[in-house]
Amino acid sequence: MKIAQTIDAIRAAREEYGLESVGLVPTMGYLHEGHLELVRRARKENDRVIVTIYVNPKQFGPSEDLSRYPRDMEHDLELLSNENVDTVFAPSDEAMYPADYQTTVIVTQVTQPLEGARRPTHFEGVTTVVTKLFNLCRPTRAYFGQKDAQQVAVLRQMVRDLNFNLEIVVCPTVREKDGLALSSRNKYLTAEQRAAAPALHQSLRAATVLWAQGERNSDTLRAAMLDILSAVPSARVDYVSAANPTTLQEYSDTVAAGQGILFSMAVFFGQTRLIDNVLLPPGAE
Ligand code: AMP
Repeated sequence: MKIAQTIDAIRAAREEYGLESVGLVPTMGYLHEGHLELVRRARKENDRVIVTIYVNPKQFGPSEDLSRYPRDMEHDLELLSNENVDTVFAPSDEAMYPADYQTTVIVTQVTQPLEGARRPTHFEGVTTVVTKLFNLCRPTRAYFGQKDAQQVAVLRQMVRDLNFNLEIVVCPTVREKDGLALSSRNKYLTAEQRAAAPALHQSLRAATVLWAQGERNSDTLRAAMLDILSAVPSARVDYVSAANPTTLQEYSDTVAAGQGILFSMAVFFGQTRLIDNVLLPPGAE
């Protein structure tokens, strides 16, 4: 497995792969099974696999957890080597954003609701770094998790708008046995918070059951999620949402026949902010 840390090194690795198909898996490291499922899917579908490990400062707000974001490069490299990854790109901040760096990529609309409303510069950080990774790695396919549903919607829009010649592949959310979505941030949870955290998944299930029973009133669906989360003393709800899966606009009143729905939420446990979602029908984006 090659480890590229500079722009020249990743360019040279990509050059070697020539016309072979390349699967790209962008991550911020501290890898778990959710990340590894993306890697395995990329491994199955491509001649070459490039995984990037980069904690991108531009996607963290000033009051967010950049400096304490968990890192374990040595363990990450071991996991990726076991998955037969061809190249890991793990650049420095100086390599990605040299002192005279000036360019930002902005998707204007689908970035506005939900996560974008609470984290105003988050998605421009994501779209900027992912553009750089696409240009450097020129992937045939790029792999992202449904866990970050709005990120998927934003990146799909960017790929369409900027004519990136690649396919976005979205992989299902990997969960613990009790339903908690795997996340690098779960390690911040105290034992008590960890025990309460499956409430996110439980509230999504409640909404999913109502939806399957034919409930189409979006207020009723949101209230069902909120009821479950509100019953958890250690949880502070940031938002619950029942939105159009493509535009991410909140549904009001009755959801029209034939429409899909994205149920999503963000919940604080202490300082730790967890997100989760379910898309119905799956793949409706
Ligand atoms: P991150 O390192 O958190 O930026 O995540 C890197 C990629 O892994 C993103 O595309 C995430 O959506 C995806 N991912 C994170 N957690 C999970 C999970 N539990 N299941 C599936 N994909 C995930």
